[in-house]
Amino acid sequence: SAETDAIDRDCLVRVAVRIRPQNSRELIDMCRVCTTVTPGEQQIVLGSDKAFTFDYVYDADSNQCDIYSECVNRLVEGTLHGYNATVLAYGQTGSGKTYTMGTGFDQASGDHQLGIIPRAIRHIFAGIDGIKCADDNDSSITKSEFSVAVQFIELYNEEIIDLLDPFNKNSTFKIHESASGQITIAGATIKPINEPQDALKLLQQGALARTTASTKMNDLSSRSHAVFTLFVRRQHVLELKNNFTDNEIETLTSKFHFVDLAGSERLKRTLATGERAREGISINCGLLALGNCISALGDKSKRVSHVPYRDSKLTRLLQDSLGGNSQTLMIACISPSDRDFMETLNTLKYANRAR
Ligand code: ADP
Ligand code: MG
Repeated sequence: SAETDAIDRDCLVRVAVRIRPQNSRELIDMCRVCTTVTPGEQQIVLGSDKAFTFDYVYDADSNQCDIYSECVNRLVEGTLHGYNATVLAYGQTGSGKTYTMGTGFDQASGDHQLGIIPRAIRHIFAGIDGIKCADDNDSSITKSEFSVAVQFIELYNEEIIDLLDPFNKNSTFKIHESASGQITIAGATIKPINEPQDALKLLQQGALARTTASTKMNDLSSRSHAVFTLFVRRQHVLELKNNFTDNEIETLTSKFHFVDLAGSERLKRTLATGERAREGISINCGLLALGNCISALGDKSKRVSHVPYRDSKLTRLLQDSLGGNSQTLMIACISPSDRDFMETLNTLKYANRAR
């Protein structure tokens, strides 16, 4: 059935690499392109001989629609059937994380430019309509009711900022784990939404809060992780054979996290001082812990053993959405230019560990 086909348990972590086009600065400076994609082979070669193979490889001419339909589409289908999903964008600052994810959503931008989050929002509502429509044509009583809600937070210095309530400076948000292992953020805003437009407004509002803070604080957005979450709850009646009076109501809940990670160049910064050092260390710890968790999950022989979720706020927050009942896609974003060779090599190595 659709329910059992909704996730592929043998492949809970997939990795995509996306090369952005050269920007005008790089063209003016006549930077060389140091990446080559082998057609039909999911392989990228950096320089002359550093070859890596991933689940998906996108060259600079790829478009937003292809990435969505090939990598993300199926995760949304899973969400409608009670499975969690997580998409993460990893890479150095300026490599296309925010563009790919759509975390900087603006109502004014054209449809073909839309990133993953606005596409997923529309897809979820279209999927709900599709299921309801099928229910209506079904003579049995399996009518589904859905509710959708949104949360948008930022992790900075191991602290949580509520992007849907950015002026709330008093709250200290705590990550809470329920007896059944469900992770929630105590005190963070969760807004119910009735139509795609509601969610898009909140996305834009949060994105704006993020950039405003960023200009004040010297590009905070490259130093923080932004996590946009869609919660989907589905209730439907399970018709029990031979007993029409005792129908059971099943509730499926799922969440879909969209994570625009801090710039990966932060991973190696070690020799800073004061406030910056503290920041460097905590961002280090999120990306480092994430790499360790994803690598542990991707390795089938290690899957049963320890996954170090508790090593950072980021992995703690994603704990119930990485592995287990959920599917993860990591998109490694890279620059094609030779001046970024070393950062790109680091990104490809990090992404390679996830496979
Ligand atoms: P990051 O979030 O990793 O720092 P951005 O997503 O902000 O990087 O991308 C940096 C710049 O490059 C932005 O102006 C963005 O619009 C542009 N860009 C990134 N990826 C692409 C792409 N695939 N096609 C066109 N422009 C892109
Ligand atoms: Mg960004």
